[in-house]
Amino acid sequence: MERAYNFSAGPAVLPMEVLEATAQASLNFNGLGMSIMEMSHRSKEYDVVIKEAQADALKIMNLSADEYEVLFLGGGASTQFLMIPYNFLKTQADYLHTGVWAGKAIKEAEKIGKVNVIASSKDTTFNYIPKDFVITPDADYVHITTNNTIYGTEFRKDLEVGNVPFFADMSSDMFAVQRDFSKYDLIYAGAQKNIGPAGVTLVVIKKSLMERQRKVENMFTMLDYNTHLNNESMFNTPPCLPIYVVGQTFKWILKNGLDAIEANNIKKAAVLYDFMDASNGYYAPTVKNHEDRSLMNVCFNLATPELEAKFIADAKAAYNMTNLKGHRSVGGVRASIYNAAPIEWVETLVKFMEKFQKEN
Ligand SMILES: *Cc1c(COP(=O)(O)O)cnc(C)c1O
Repeated sequence: MERAYNFSAGPAVLPMEVLEATAQASLNFNGLGMSIMEMSHRSKEYDVVIKEAQADALKIMNLSADEYEVLFLGGGASTQFLMIPYNFLKTQADYLHTGVWAGKAIKEAEKIGKVNVIASSKDTTFNYIPKDFVITPDADYVHITTNNTIYGTEFRKDLEVGNVPFFADMSSDMFAVQRDFSKYDLIYAGAQKNIGPAGVTLVVIKKSLMERQRKVENMFTMLDYNTHLNNESMFNTPPCLPIYVVGQTFKWILKNGLDAIEANNIKKAAVLYDFMDASNGYYAPTVKNHEDRSLMNVCFNLATPELEAKFIADAKAAYNMTNLKGHRSVGGVRASIYNAAPIEWVETLVKFMEKFQKEN
């Protein structure tokens, strides 16, 4: 099969072997004569699928099952924007405002309690990662967005937050880089950026965090993390097929090694950024600070919106490169190069960019 050069920000490229396994499981799962979509989520065969996915996630993160629990929830990362303050915002919480998604998380938290926006890069259309901020020592938690999908910035280093519980939306760089995951008390990621299809959200919770849960009368059952923790992520029917795909992706990550995946991501991003930095401003990355540049979403501008439109159209015509258009809120060009995008894609893109620059 001819694969398109798919630079989509999400849903996005997945490893071919994951797609192949999913195609097979969609028809006949493990020779059972039925599709994974047709099975009971309570069957012993499906139980293996979800348990392995949970165990593999912890293995990739080097976390122990004694300390952490892995949930697969519906509702997207956007529902976590609400569940987090609903469960943990008692007095005040610190948020870093580094982009559209961070802003949406803040908006939900403000409906529940006091939010301190301790840093923001809004003044410069979020084109850098703030470094000067002070975490409120008695905050209920501090919340960051590790990779800002729309603006192409990324916290490459794990923050030091002291004793304050540390929460992160890792939707768009989950398992793209190595992190000290043990620094985090709650991690969540919509699967559709880097680890699977839309429809499931990975939530990793440090069990001891639940001691800090906000006490609410008549708490909504589905919004209470304890509901999902007490039922091994099976209180209601989980997104069975997406969990299977995510589980296959985790196996692919374990086989390759997160260190090798990260090294490859660094190499891929460097090919693109280095080329643009040497283009005499013809291609202008929107993020100037090298250490803040996302490995996943490479955003850049050409001289005019018209030239950008031509660039995107020509890339499609020449190579069937798709989804290069920047987010509708910012325009420009964005090449998303998640784990499963091979380095050849980036090299071909750069080859096209060289030619386009000469001719335009
Ligand atoms: C896409 C994205 C979201 C939204 O995810 P949904 O699963 O669509 O709710 C949240 N945060 C980040 C960083 C994203 O990239």
